[in-house]
Amino acid sequence: MFTLMGHGIGTDIIIAKAWVNMYFSGLEIRYSEISDSEITSEIGRLRRAIGMLDKDFKDISESFKNSKTGDFDNLLDSHRLIINDPLLIVETEKRIAESLINAECALVRQLDFIVEQFSKISNPYFQERKIDVEQIVGQLVKKLSLIDHIQNPRKPDAELADKNEASWICLSDQMSINEISKFIKEGVKGFAIESGSPTSHLATLFKSLEIPAILGLQEHNELVEHGERVILDSESGVLLAGLDSYILAEYQERIRKGVQKKQKLKVFVNVPCQTKNQVDIGLMANIENPKEVIKAIELGVSGIGLFRTEFLFLEKNKILSEDEQFEAYKHVVEALNPLPVVIRTLDLGADKLPSSLSSKFTKDSNPALGQRGIRFSLENPDFFKVQINAILRASKFGNVKIMLPLITEKEEIIKAKQLIYQSLHNVSETYCYDLNTPAIGAMIEVPSAAITIESLIPHIDFASLGTNDLIQYTLAIDRTNNKVSHLYNPGHPAVQFLIENVIKSCIRENCPVSICGELANDIVQTKKFFQMGLREVSTNVSDILKMKEAISKITL
Ligand code: PEP
Ligand code: MG
Repeated sequence: MFTLMGHGIGTDIIIAKAWVNMYFSGLEIRYSEISDSEITSEIGRLRRAIGMLDKDFKDISESFKNSKTGDFDNLLDSHRLIINDPLLIVETEKRIAESLINAECALVRQLDFIVEQFSKISNPYFQERKIDVEQIVGQLVKKLSLIDHIQNPRKPDAELADKNEASWICLSDQMSINEISKFIKEGVKGFAIESGSPTSHLATLFKSLEIPAILGLQEHNELVEHGERVILDSESGVLLAGLDSYILAEYQERIRKGVQKKQKLKVFVNVPCQTKNQVDIGLMANIENPKEVIKAIELGVSGIGLFRTEFLFLEKNKILSEDEQFEAYKHVVEALNPLPVVIRTLDLGADKLPSSLSSKFTKDSNPALGQRGIRFSLENPDFFKVQINAILRASKFGNVKIMLPLITEKEEIIKAKQLIYQSLHNVSETYCYDLNTPAIGAMIEVPSAAITIESLIPHIDFASLGTNDLIQYTLAIDRTNNKVSHLYNPGHPAVQFLIENVIKSCIRENCPVSICGELANDIVQTKKFFQMGLREVSTNVSDILKMKEAISKITL
């Protein structure tokens, strides 16, 4: 038995088969020989991989149907031409049949041949096509590997089988947000990933989906076998492999106790959120998906303190129309009415970039410092207005507040408000609605905003501290980089100074203030800020009861 450590995301333990999904670096491929009788099925594998990739391209192109993205369309078309080009496909099939080798190997040999031909031509056009072909072959190799994983999972040891068994735990060196749903559909119930940190957006997504995970896992390449049973303990961030019956029994007992613990927390469902000495605390929920509202309401939240709308785009991997966005917002707003719903405008960019939108973004060498959040919205006002129209239409059905992400100075708020007022006028006229101007607030998550909060307050109706980004930018630690995640320190004097400055200034100026970053579910930290007068926090739905219990034990 051995263990691999990382940062745990969640509280659950699961036992399941390992789905080892290492991404290929370069084109190191599996070489194998096949027999005559396997030619047809090997060609079938190749065709299935081509079909899957072609479908990916079609889906992306579909999501761009209504937008003018000439260059990107051309690129997609050229890639689709390559995967249907006989020089690549027919010739690779021939190699499989004639040399009796597997599809990966035949593909790479054909790639070498094509590259050699292109190298003889100095025309830059062919040099560019060479890169395209290399990329396509790389993607086809990944698809072939995916097909193998789906088709040939090694069966779990029947002797050790147990009713607590989930289906799969996906182990991977890296993972992007928009890939998660694909794995879940294949039966993955937990993730253990080498990249990422506890405050990365990947962690946010896992919490929102209530999927146990480990991020920043120690390197596992070749240590864990595909199909092997493993234990994922998301509370302590430990992945156990090479299991024996003793360790399995131990963890099955822990799973049972975990269920009991969750059951006990249910007593906090219908009680107000108060400290031991009856000070009321507003406990709001952070959501990424409209489906989460039912659970949030059941748990008795006092509103939605942060609706991360960009996750709607990430989940569907497409640009949502005004009507689609309106339906999503209306669902949440109506369900919560009369409780408030703080809808944050799109915080796209950096690690939150659906592939369907990547052409709209410049390739930043330092994405966290690049075109993200309000910067993207102000540079793409037509895009921004579509979202604002949808939010304003939804505001007719309840209590909506609008929040602007990644604010660094008051000018951004002023510009955004101008666009919001224009939309308010248009929506009121178009739909004959008598709309009130919604409260407009700012995320305080960049040090410049926290330091100069007094200059922002006259322009906002509320402020919400985004401590995940505030800590990232204050301590210069990339949220997505597990190599520096141990430096994440909410107790750092600089972080404390900034949070204190925001809370005290807002209270002095009568500007409602809350915390919506991960720090909101850390009672040791929040207690200090409650003592300064903070009275509202917003946290993940999965942490609501735990936080209510913790608040009930403190005295202010
Ligand atoms: C934050 O930065 O603390 C925050 C709540 O926003 P996000 O995690 O979505 O960046
Ligand atoms: Mg943020």
